[in-house]
Amino acid sequence: MTFTNVIGHGSIAQQLEYTYQQDRIPSAYLFIGLEGIGKSTLVKAFAQMMNCQTHDNCHRCDSCRMFDNGNHPDFHVIKPDGQSIRIKQIHDLIRHLDLKPAYAVKRLVLVKEAHKLNLESANSFLKILEEPPLNTLIILMTTDENLLLETINSRCQKIYFSPLTSEDLRILLDRNYQLDPATLDFVLSYAQGRIRKGFIEKATILANMRIQVLHMLKTLKTEKLYDYSLLIDQWVKQNLHPFFLEFCMAWLRDLLSVRRQSPMGVINSDMMDELEDVSTCFSDEILQWSFDLVVETELAIQSNASKNLALESLLIQMKQIFWGTLVV
Ligand SMILES: [Zn+2]
Repeated sequence: MTFTNVIGHGSIAQQLEYTYQQDRIPSAYLFIGLEGIGKSTLVKAFAQMMNCQTHDNCHRCDSCRMFDNGNHPDFHVIKPDGQSIRIKQIHDLIRHLDLKPAYAVKRLVLVKEAHKLNLESANSFLKILEEPPLNTLIILMTTDENLLLETINSRCQKIYFSPLTSEDLRILLDRNYQLDPATLDFVLSYAQGRIRKGFIEKATILANMRIQVLHMLKTLKTEKLYDYSLLIDQWVKQNLHPFFLEFCMAWLRDLLSVRRQSPMGVINSDMMDELEDVSTCFSDEILQWSFDLVVETELAIQSNASKNLALESLLIQMKQIFWGTLVV
């Protein structure tokens, strides 16, 4: 019996499998860990395994097919509707759980972002935990158990998830995306052990942006502002300027980390040699000052300043800070 498609969290998968084999599955689990590390994927594979007619996630039996098509009637997923999980969602769930499972050996209810149960929904949900329906496993997921009512916390068996390892992430990315080696290295370090929604698309844009911005920063000393105006205009038209600002912040933060000899969490860790070289050229104050300027530029744009002017002004000020010269 294996969770054949799940990458990472091997010891948790083993623990769940063993508990299931021993027929000691509790009525409710609370899974605690960062978003984007594969908790939902593990839950789905676990539900599929428990209900597979061969208990092996065979992908051929009726139950597996329904899971693979995302329409198994006994796998219920509750997630926030807007800012919270609403009372109506819990009432609908209670009505549904009153019925017998349609097919399942073990019906499963997954509550994503359980900390977004509002007080009314949480109290209603508590009734399900107090009188769990037969053959039903409830799994709540959260990033922070302290945000849940203690009465809910105390009725769940807790399992803590760690971020994915680099090796797991590499396998996951190789399996699901075609990335060139340089982009893959950047995506791996940018991921910091997790892959959030839309992450790959964003990381790929940032990886391309990095090439352009690093070239810009290297040539800023000698080039004229006019040479960058066209590029800035292009970014603004394509709505890429937030990525430019995000990359600038990441790069400056990395330089500061390297200067302070605390390379943990460095995003551009695949470019450590270049970071070390550049970090020797500027003081902590200059880097911090530049970082603050980028943040101010972001805030100015959010407050409806002209994007082109704000970005050009940022470059002028960075050139002054870095080299004490004016771009004209
Ligand atoms: Zn199957």
